[in-house]
Amino acid sequence: MDRTATDLEIANLTKRYGDTVAVDSISHRFAAGSYVCLLGPSGCGKSSTLRMIAGHETVSDGDIVLDGQMIAQVPAAKRKTSMMFQNYALFPHLTVLQNVGFSLKMRGEASAARDAAAREMLDLVDMRDFAARFPSMLSGGQEQRVALARALITKPSVLLLDEPLSALDPFLRDRMRAELRRFQRELGITFIHVTHSQTEAMALADEVIVMNAGTIQQAGPPREVYAKPKTAFVAQFLGGHNVVKLADGLISLRRDKVQLTTGTDAKVEAAVTGIEFQGAFVSLSARGMGDQDFHALLPEEAFFASPVSLGQTIGLTWAPEASHRLTQ
Ligand code: ADP
Ligand code: MG
Repeated sequence: MDRTATDLEIANLTKRYGDTVAVDSISHRFAAGSYVCLLGPSGCGKSSTLRMIAGHETVSDGDIVLDGQMIAQVPAAKRKTSMMFQNYALFPHLTVLQNVGFSLKMRGEASAARDAAAREMLDLVDMRDFAARFPSMLSGGQEQRVALARALITKPSVLLLDEPLSALDPFLRDRMRAELRRFQRELGITFIHVTHSQTEAMALADEVIVMNAGTIQQAGPPREVYAKPKTAFVAQFLGGHNVVKLADGLISLRRDKVQLTTGTDAKVEAAVTGIEFQGAFVSLSARGMGDQDFHALLPEEAFFASPVSLGQTIGLTWAPEASHRLTQ
């Protein structure tokens, strides 16, 4: 098979914990130098997948191929992967510089060489001035940068990040999100970032992999997955869609493409059950076509030009390209 140097591939990768199948024979090829988000609800197997790639969890079945080599049985420290943990896991009794240089110490590198390498990494994340501090003297965002520097010091080809932004407050989270993307571009290595937030995945990823119950539901560029979710699960989990049961199957329908109509082009007659002002949009809920819930995201000005009220029967319509068939 033709592979560039740092392509990563998983094949029929499986993780069982006793009777629980946490990861159920998933296969995927990660393009070298891409930002990939593993997205799915809690318990769907994201962390188990990441830990198997990192070598922190044994593989029950299947293969991991990096750089043309099968690495499923290779110890974590000998892989070209590195992991940044959810809670950063910095050593409280070591300084920032010592934390960052820790892996090199384990590899037996002399202190002058590892301090120099650690300073270089601290430069990269703009933390050189904090080298002598202890982790307890850092803010959340600073801790995260130190954890990133520590994970990068071994010069991995693949950086694995497990919910790296979840410990931060919303303001800092948005800032660090942009920084992660910038670091990935500068380094040119593959980032695999686990998250349960669809906005985070869509904002960051070149490719998003949506998981559910240990399986990959769909993978692709975020815009493509958002425009054409394959399954009801993907449409519902990404948000922004209606999932509608028709007589001959299921469709997904973008909420921002549903329009109100008083004309004969109405596809559904529905009773308004909710109206929420959201700033640029008004989110309207209505029940029709049996007992199905429809949601429309209407531009604020258009809604208030001819508002409707709770309980009112309205007509809903959409262009044919706003909807498409779901496979399950
Ligand atoms: P996620 O990261 O998507 O939340 P995990 O990979 O952590 O999912 O977990 C997937 C499933 O495996 C869950 O049902 C979880 O309870 C189970 N699991 C995870 N780790 C262990 C473990 N060490 N022992 C037993 N079951 C586990
Ligand atoms: Mg997890």
